[in-house]
Amino acid sequence: MYRTLRDAEAALKPGEKIWGGYYPSGAYYFINATPVVFWRDFMMKRERLFCEVIRPSPCHMYLDIDGGDPPAIWKRLKPVLEMVYKEFGNDTLQCVEMHADSDTKKSSHIIMKGEKWCLPSPQAGLDLMKTVHRMSEEMDSGILDDDWDYIDLRIYTRNRQFRMLGCSKPGQNRPFVGIPLTYDNWYASLVQPLEDRDTVHLPTIKSTPVMQTNVPAFLQDVVMSLNIKPVRVYNPIFSWIWIIHHRGCPFVNRVHRHNNNYIVISLENGTVTYKCHHCQNRKKTVHLPTAIKERFRKMLHSNMTFTF
Ligand SMILES: [Zn+2]
Repeated sequence: MYRTLRDAEAALKPGEKIWGGYYPSGAYYFINATPVVFWRDFMMKRERLFCEVIRPSPCHMYLDIDGGDPPAIWKRLKPVLEMVYKEFGNDTLQCVEMHADSDTKKSSHIIMKGEKWCLPSPQAGLDLMKTVHRMSEEMDSGILDDDWDYIDLRIYTRNRQFRMLGCSKPGQNRPFVGIPLTYDNWYASLVQPLEDRDTVHLPTIKSTPVMQTNVPAFLQDVVMSLNIKPVRVYNPIFSWIWIIHHRGCPFVNRVHRHNNNYIVISLENGTVTYKCHHCQNRKKTVHLPTAIKERFRKMLHSNMTFTF
């Protein structure tokens, strides 16, 4: 057992992971052990006050819903995350859900495991959650509005202690439950099953999954010249949509509750249109410069052939 993480790191051997343990006083210490040895020597104890120490290295996505109604929040959040995973080519998503409830407080730990997608680091988990937060605001969906108060975003910091299946906080006797406490289930619920990542193949994603792709440079220039503050872009075929990061709507001269304004550039129509999600029927359209329309036509003709 080690008093500091630094001592544990210095003594770590291949195949071992660093685990955290609480003394009944609440102070904590560190243990180096392979998962098999840790299960045998520590998880088999009657009172388990242990955490996984989440290292700044590849990991599964993990969530802590702390307070509120965690199952209801998860039901709303899950489809959104699934959609993002799908966008990145991962259709099969396995979720391990654990909960630790008392009379006064409910919390859930959820591990999301994709076949192809593993986060390069816990920081990417934070980026992902921030992206989802921003998206739900921009789309004005409203469905997750009040849930963010209960989704703990502090868990993605370096070397976070994350309580595991069957483990409780000192003096609380409120262990995480939800699946039977067997070695296989416990191992499958770890955020970072292995310490030594070189031994497994882990495809990674960029740490911020923004949908900012394929904007031709000449269109970037148009947007920059509009004197607006675009934050992100979505990209259907031959058109680009920029969400605008300000809260004043020019159609009503006041601020909506969410970010509602966006512009759409359509090469097909040769137009730039300013719109507002809130003011459904209002829009202002201007035409793209002729030079750009010409350029698009040339682009089309050089890339496409039709066979009849
Ligand atoms: Zn508006």
